[in-house]
Amino acid sequence: MQKLVFNFKSKESKKIKNPKIFLGGKGSNLAEMVKIGLPVPPGFTISTKVCDLFYKNKKKLNSKIVKDIKKELKFIEKETGKKFGDLQSPLLVSVRSGARVSMPGMMDTILNLGLNDKTVLALANKTSNMRFAKDSYRRFIQLFGKVVFGVNDEKFDHVLDSAKNKQGVTDDSKLNVESLKKIVSEYKKICEDYTKRKFPDTPNEQLGLAIEAVFKSWMGERAVVYREKNGITKDIANGTAVNVVTMVFGNMGDDSATGVVFTRNGHNGKREIEGEYLINAQGEDVVAGVRTGKNVDLLKKEMPKSHKELSNACAKLEKHFREPQDIEFTIEQGKFYLLQTRTAKMSAGALIKTSVDMVKEKLIDKNRALTRIPAQQLEALLHRTMDESKIKDHKQLAKGIAASPGAASGIAIFNVKEAIELGESGKKVILVRKETKPEDVPAFFSAEGILTSLGGKSSHAAIVSRGMGKPCIVGCAELKINYDNNTCTANGITIKEGDTISIDGSAGTVYIGEVPTVEPKVTKDFQTILGWAQNTKQLGIRANADTPDAAKLARQYGAQGIGLCRTERMFNETDRIGLFVEMIMAQSPEERNQVLKKLQELQKSDFIGILKEMEGYKVTIRLLDPPLHEFLPNPEELKDKMIKENDNSEKTQRVLDRARELAEINPMMGHRGVRVAITYPEIYKMQITAVFEAAAELAKKKVNAKPQIMIPQVGSLAELNYIKSIYDDVKKQMEQKYKKKFKINFGTMLEVVRACLTSDELANTAEFFSFGTNDLTQAVFSFSREDAEGKFLPEYMEKELLEISPFQSIDVNGVGHLMRIGIKQGRNIKKDLEIGICGEHGGDPNSIKFCHSVDVSYVSASPHRIPIAIVAAAQATIEQKKSKKKSRK
Ligand code: PEP
Ligand code: MG
Repeated sequence: MQKLVFNFKSKESKKIKNPKIFLGGKGSNLAEMVKIGLPVPPGFTISTKVCDLFYKNKKKLNSKIVKDIKKELKFIEKETGKKFGDLQSPLLVSVRSGARVSMPGMMDTILNLGLNDKTVLALANKTSNMRFAKDSYRRFIQLFGKVVFGVNDEKFDHVLDSAKNKQGVTDDSKLNVESLKKIVSEYKKICEDYTKRKFPDTPNEQLGLAIEAVFKSWMGERAVVYREKNGITKDIANGTAVNVVTMVFGNMGDDSATGVVFTRNGHNGKREIEGEYLINAQGEDVVAGVRTGKNVDLLKKEMPKSHKELSNACAKLEKHFREPQDIEFTIEQGKFYLLQTRTAKMSAGALIKTSVDMVKEKLIDKNRALTRIPAQQLEALLHRTMDESKIKDHKQLAKGIAASPGAASGIAIFNVKEAIELGESGKKVILVRKETKPEDVPAFFSAEGILTSLGGKSSHAAIVSRGMGKPCIVGCAELKINYDNNTCTANGITIKEGDTISIDGSAGTVYIGEVPTVEPKVTKDFQTILGWAQNTKQLGIRANADTPDAAKLARQYGAQGIGLCRTERMFNETDRIGLFVEMIMAQSPEERNQVLKKLQELQKSDFIGILKEMEGYKVTIRLLDPPLHEFLPNPEELKDKMIKENDNSEKTQRVLDRARELAEINPMMGHRGVRVAITYPEIYKMQITAVFEAAAELAKKKVNAKPQIMIPQVGSLAELNYIKSIYDDVKKQMEQKYKKKFKINFGTMLEVVRACLTSDELANTAEFFSFGTNDLTQAVFSFSREDAEGKFLPEYMEKELLEISPFQSIDVNGVGHLMRIGIKQGRNIKKDLEIGICGEHGGDPNSIKFCHSVDVSYVSASPHRIPIAIVAAAQATIEQKKSKKKSRK
């Protein structure tokens, strides 16, 4: 049978292929520390495989394992010269959990195991310290009672508190032997009353029960919920290992201590040992915060020799693991021990700084510096954030889905028009709506942030906010919004119009009052990382940007072009919407053309602004996509308003009739995109002309503008060719007008399933493709993106029917499969066809990795996600090269 229990010193453990999977993170790192000569107390690891066997064996250890454990115990006894249950020199151990990934505090640990009424005296004799021995004993009974028997901690705390009261002390460490003796016997009684059995006093029985309890804690509620929340699936970690480690004591007197340190500052990444320690204490006191620790700098003064050993160990560990470490140490009567090491969890800023520093220190190379940063975390660096130290002064009102990062405060306004007016008058406004629609977009410009009670991460509010870099929370279901009296209520608190609230779009939390925020900083180190990533990546990175400001910001962050400029957003600006409605209301083509002329001038100037900002890079201008009724008021709301305001005018009645006429049952699959242009070709004609006019004007000014025109919602070559002939006509006219040739590419989105399936046909006309993965995902799943994330997807995730929302990360098997077909067939016709992706997935690291693997030419993401995209694209290149190298071996 396979060996399943390993001494830390075991030579065999070096042969294990995936030590972290098999021995758990803690066990494998303890063995590593021994290997590099660091002082670790003797011990052994029972593998994660045993956890699996334990559950298969009705939660019992099988006899072979029990035998192996006894054998390993003998080794420890030999090594330490101590013995389980010995009355001269008793061996005490800790029993610690340790899964493949660290789950801090989520599973159980037992300390001081091996103590009973006799060995406690031997320990007292040996250390000439009765107080210490009794203190260790009471700690053991409490932990054992809690972990093995499930006794509530409060019962023990109650006894401890009354003993302190009785003796007149406030600090545990001041309890005298007499008090501790009483506590021990009362603790035992608590356990015995609870279990109706005698407290187990043979160390072997204690050990068996403790190991089983730690395995059981793998399926404890805390651990299960933590794994769910952190996406730790079975293939990431399947069971915990158990580490049995000789006890060393930080509570043996004033020459003993225990502490926890980071080898570098976890918040800002500075190269300094950061952490806390306590004199005369056990590890749990530091971790549980029972006593406030001292800054580790003080250890230099208090225990200079140990401080030196700690510094040396930190340096050695970093060199070995090539990552900043999070370390637990204990000093027992002046002797220094390491009890644990693991990769330190750090803020995004600290990850950046340590990456750059470690390359300078030659600890890691640039590839490693790039791959160790979880790309997603970078977004946090580019937005204003809440001042952490001030959050506690504010009450949390509700929590929703974090849709667009950043923090903002303002007065709650429930009405779109009012939000625009107040915002434009200089007031800070948070727009609070059940959901938002395209016609609400002007309010996004004037609001500081957006909060909706419905919708998910790819709802209208989320996408628009992300594009603008405005903080946004969506799907805040606990918030009940009442438009009748302009209030919202959550958790029994009601917010009225004009009350100040704060939203944290990175966490999804809503607070009452104004939580101060802090500015983002693009540090020099961040620039360095982005520079390295730019030089490594192969994928192109473009931006989804609809305004010159967004284009400018995207370029600053490193975007090389615009992959999607949604032109309809321009019609939503306050000075345009009226004109656009006029265009929709026109009763004849002539009347419509009159309005379109005015709109053409406005679009032209929009395009000029954006093209200038992106000079030298391609700018993909997508023609109108949404259905026309989205620009008109909702018929029912309008009717109510007419009744309320006694408005019987013919003009309003006409708007109502038109809104009713254009209303659709399922707008997502309705009269939108290319379909609108087939009914009203003059709209696209106007937009195409505006692009040519803008290009002509910029050419005159010697600006190197590179616009290209993209058609949305195309499903057939016939549709595309219909628009292509409009494009050809305009092009001809423009070339005659300006007496010059224009090179403005004409391409199509692939966002309709049929377009992907017939991409070889489309490639005959299209000069480029761009996957609209938002609509494509919607079509492939038959999920409405407006409804799915807010309503039923969370349940899919909870019931493990989906691991991640397909609107967030590309569904590789479905949507990805269609993409592969689209790419292969398209490039069969045109070998070098440029194929991008411009759905929300363009800023998602996993999706970017997939795009790299299927040879997409570029990804397009909102400006604030450009740095993420650049780093993720570099990581994709590095990882692909690595796996190719591996498969060649
Ligand atoms: C898409 O469908 O992926 C896309 C980019 O278009 P929109 O989100 O504007 O529908
Ligand atoms: Mg689309």
